[in-house]
Amino acid sequence: MAEFTMELNDEQKEVRDWLHGFAADVIRPAAAEWDEREETPWPVIQEAAKVGIYSLDFYAQQYFDPTGLGIPMAMEELFWGDAGIALSIVGTGLAAVGVLANGTEEQIGTWIPQMYGDQNDVKVAAFCSSEPDAGSDVASMRTRAVYDEATDEWVLNGTKTWATNGGIANVHVVVAVVDPELGSKGHASFIVPPGTAGLSQGQKFKKHGIRASHTAEVVLDGVRVPGSCLLGGKEKLDERLARARERAKAGGGERVKNAAMATFEASRPAVGAMAVGTARAAYEVALDYATTRQQFGRPIIDNQGVAFQLADMRTQIDAARLLVWRASWMAVNGRPFTAAEGSMSKLFASETAKKVTGQAIQILGGNGYTREYPVERMHRDSAIYTIFEGTSEIQRLVIARTLAGMPIR
Ligand SMILES: Cc1cc2nc3c(=O)[nH]c(=O)nc-3n(C[C@H](O)[C@H](O)[C@H](O)COP(=O)(O)OP(=O)(O)OC[C@H]3O[C@@H](n4cnc5c(N)ncnc54)[C@H](O)[C@@H]3O)c2cc1C
Repeated sequence: MAEFTMELNDEQKEVRDWLHGFAADVIRPAAAEWDEREETPWPVIQEAAKVGIYSLDFYAQQYFDPTGLGIPMAMEELFWGDAGIALSIVGTGLAAVGVLANGTEEQIGTWIPQMYGDQNDVKVAAFCSSEPDAGSDVASMRTRAVYDEATDEWVLNGTKTWATNGGIANVHVVVAVVDPELGSKGHASFIVPPGTAGLSQGQKFKKHGIRASHTAEVVLDGVRVPGSCLLGGKEKLDERLARARERAKAGGGERVKNAAMATFEASRPAVGAMAVGTARAAYEVALDYATTRQQFGRPIIDNQGVAFQLADMRTQIDAARLLVWRASWMAVNGRPFTAAEGSMSKLFASETAKKVTGQAIQILGGNGYTREYPVERMHRDSAIYTIFEGTSEIQRLVIARTLAGMPIR
């Protein structure tokens, strides 16, 4: 087990500087354009693929870094560049993690490369869990997957919503109900291969922020996928369902420390790191502005009202990063999240990003309110962090229930 450290090693610093260079030279200059276009920035993704930033190898390398700092460092730098474009670059990872976590070796080897495509023909993937009536309340999911024994196929029907890359993805990972009696324990994940009939994009959302990231409904109308597309395979699913039925019969259906919760605790710090990146970007713009903008014959930072805001902004960003790094280190080293430290890091970092980007607008005055300066975009972008991967209210609920030893549904 690696000791917790607050210092990046030389190799990590090299990777950080490389990512920062890409964020500063490629992502940041393209941010305003793709925000206005509200389209997936394919040329930027392709550029990222060419230098090795858009690939499973790169993220796997960071993920298995025993210090736990690889992923948060990478997320912070890319999202420092721009949140919408960065999400377009890392969004495929959400689907890839779904396959890595639940898939067999063969499924991992078959589908993950198709999610990324190659340097000359980049592809993206989508992870589809949320539904119009099942957001925070995942257990009320309705999309059904029914097994057709005669053809060894699964038939999927339902509507997914809010899917990042939904409808434009080469590979979709779809979570569906296989046993409605078991709530979230009766769910399973399926690969929907490229070009499968019956899968279509519903409405594409026009959003407040992260507008360079495509978000859409995904409609599944009699989608037939081979039995081999059930992640983990049928035998494993049947065993898992049998165990869940036994537990439900014995009255132990709602267990606090279930596997899904542990997965969320491990993935939420990465979202916290994205928020740290956006917050840091806005803080840097505000600091620079406050030291150069003159009013009443002196830089505005000479006023305590402005200076103290910057002091608070920096303090909160550093505190958020420490919570994120701690939780990431815990995840990689298999430490139990006895106080929901993963949720804690996401809660604090995402609330910090919203607050800090708002303060940055205030420090820039009228300029902060315009699209001539990036902080209004960063403020719009930051609002997503308190919503996706579990809202702030859900994080508080998870933390409180974990502290109290209560079940998390
Ligand atoms: C841009 C974007 C990208 C997304 N990408 C994906 C994706 O790729 N894949 C995917 O599957 N999903 C994705 N999501 C969905 C996202 O995870 C959900 O929006 C989120 O989980 C909240 O669900 P909801 O929007 O239905 O809100 P609701 O669950 O309806 O919540 C509405 C409000 O009620 C509050 N609330 C709900 N329940 C409680 C409670 N018990 N206690 C206190 N307050 C509560 C919430 O905190 C929130 O403030 C994305 C969403 C967005 C906006």
